[in-house]
Amino acid sequence: MGPARGAYHQNRLGLVKKALEANRFEATVHETLEGAAEYLIGTILPSGPYATVAFGGSDTVIASGIVATLRALPGVSVTFDRNDRGLSPGEWHALTRDSILVDLFVASSNAVTQDGRLVNVDRYGNRVAAIAYGPRKVALLVGRNKIVPDLQGAMERARSTAAAMNAIRIGETTPCAKTARCHDCHGKGRLCGVTSITERSFPPGRVHVLLIDQDLGF
Ligand code: SF4
Repeated sequence: MGPARGAYHQNRLGLVKKALEANRFEATVHETLEGAAEYLIGTILPSGPYATVAFGGSDTVIASGIVATLRALPGVSVTFDRNDRGLSPGEWHALTRDSILVDLFVASSNAVTQDGRLVNVDRYGNRVAAIAYGPRKVALLVGRNKIVPDLQGAMERARSTAAAMNAIRIGETTPCAKTARCHDCHGKGRLCGVTSITERSFPPGRVHVLLIDQDLGF
């Protein structure tokens, strides 16, 4: 990455950090996903105690390797990993209910606006529920590609990029999987059931956004 491009991304991430902090989120900027994962394990986790942990579905979380790291830590119990493909539907629904009451919930966000708001779209709503209320702490690993100018851009990104790519990943034949834009579909494969806008963190700092100077996930 050239110096101008590097400075552009650093400035942009710094401005979003300030906007998030003005909205009572905690926010930190990290050069790499590896650095963000180290910060989560080395700084956020010890600020607890956070004995129970659950994960929302996220390519960025998978790529970070923190699921395995946390599973290996004494005194930490991983209650639910949304990325675990071996769960039966019954197990999945039981564990998603438990995950709303863990100490620490780790996921990503579909979009972050430049004025410091988070937008997420779920099929069932388990991830947006945990981000909104329940876990004592929420840590979100967010690549710079998730930053959008405003709420309209966030809604567009959450559906036409994130949901569309997710549909392709899991083999759903939704219209967005073919056209890369949302058609507000009505089929049973629809991925978009619940949309949330997190405008502030209450209590202050409950939600920590780890902004990462890399393009990550979708
Ligand atoms: S509503 Fe349907 S078409 Fe639109 S993004 Fe969601 S799954 Fe795709």
